[in-house]
Amino acid sequence: MEKILAELINSLTNDQFLEFYEKVKKEAELIKKQKRLNEIDQKFRDKGIKCPNCKSYHCVKNGHNPEGKQKYLCKKCRASFDAFRHHFTY
Ligand SMILES: [Zn+2]
Repeated sequence: MEKILAELINSLTNDQFLEFYEKVKKEAELIKKQKRLNEIDQKFRDKGIKCPNCKSYHCVKNGHNPEGKQKYLCKKCRASFDAFRHHFTY
């Protein structure tokens, strides 16, 4: 794999190499971003906080309602819901 890659890189012109590098960099950023999202998702999955609207686990704490109950905001669909997970606050 490394040998093939080295040969491939050697066969490129500087411009081609830069183009290749930018593509790889972008792809790496996407993978890293997805990994981070998966980690966040896993964290909320462990806690069992799930959006009642889109079923995503990517939810963050979002203040409290007037009765002092924890509210959550879904980062995916922007739904706001309370800690019982089956009530939308709006
Ligand atoms: Zn949602």
